Amino acid sequence: MTANSSTKKHHLTIDGRGLAQGLLEQFKLQVQELSLHHKIIPGLAVILVGDDPASQLYVATKTQRVRQMGIKSQDFYLPKQAKMPDLQQLVQKLNNDHAIHAILIQLPLPDHLSSRQIIDLINPAKDVDGLHSQNVAFLANGQPKIIPCTPAGCLYLLQQVFPAGISGKNVVVIGRSHLVGRPMAWLLMQQNATVTIAHRYTKDLALHCQRADIIIAAAGSAGLVKGGWVRPGAVVIDVGINRLPNPNAARGYDLLGDVAFDEVQGKAAAITPVPGGVGPMTVAFLIHNTIKLCYQSLEKPYPNILKI
Ligand code: ADP
Repeated sequence: MTANSSTKKHHLTIDGRGLAQGLLEQFKLQVQELSLHHKIIPGLAVILVGDDPASQLYVATKTQRVRQMGIKSQDFYLPKQAKMPDLQQLVQKLNNDHAIHAILIQLPLPDHLSSRQIIDLINPAKDVDGLHSQNVAFLANGQPKIIPCTPAGCLYLLQQVFPAGISGKNVVVIGRSHLVGRPMAWLLMQQNATVTIAHRYTKDLALHCQRADIIIAAAGSAGLVKGGWVRPGAVVIDVGINRLPNPNAARGYDLLGDVAFDEVQGKAAAITPVPGGVGPMTVAFLIHNTIKLCYQSLEKPYPNILKI
């Protein structure tokens, strides 16, 4: 983590990249142990439907990181016209493949496919994103078996900022998606936080945020959280990754979070940047979950990094 000491108050920019790096070093050793003592290489299968460039970039980045860990990663590309039976066939094949311990379906899927139906085809024991209905139920019941990667990464970051825990803290989660907002809220409740879930129809979002000790922004709306919404000393976790076209930028777009970083930075006690905050944690927990599922396939215990 890096601290800005030029101001009187302590403002921290949370170094997601550095924290992820620390985790990856541990994970690499675990992969080596699996190979050495159990003669097994964790296997991850990623399914991508369609040709959305943002999704392709995510998958390419994930695959590269995963392979650097010594994990075997296989990508499966289906055309955007793919039908339910095509996915059924592929997922079934991967469910039955002993070299594959983890299956990830890159979301969003094209509109004609039901992500709920497709995710529920995955063997819950290979559900690396924790999105299968059975795994969602375990998490909502407060007994998670596998935790979705982004919420797991956010909780890990909060654990670094609040070593004594977040019991009794007021948390506002902006967004109620199945991938981030909802699982995040369940996790936080399990940690005894008082949780408000805000969404598109929430009135007076600014007021909710002003009361929060912790704000987790996962709305997919660039710069939504303004400086005036943040109580001095609050902790702000920015999950948003918004691409704004900019012909002068190297990639042709700027990457912006859901938080107006420049306005909020001087008020929040700690804030995650975009990029370099939650993003690297998501990848780290994808690797964590892949290794965990591999250990579980061997019926071997796996160290609980989140201590929950
Ligand atoms: P993600 O996968 O990052 O969670 P989604 O696009 O699936 O993103 O979900 C966005 C969520 O954010 C939805 O639950 C939506 O209601 C919420 N949301 C979008 N815009 C706003 C807004 N302006 N204020 C509050 N919530 C919002």
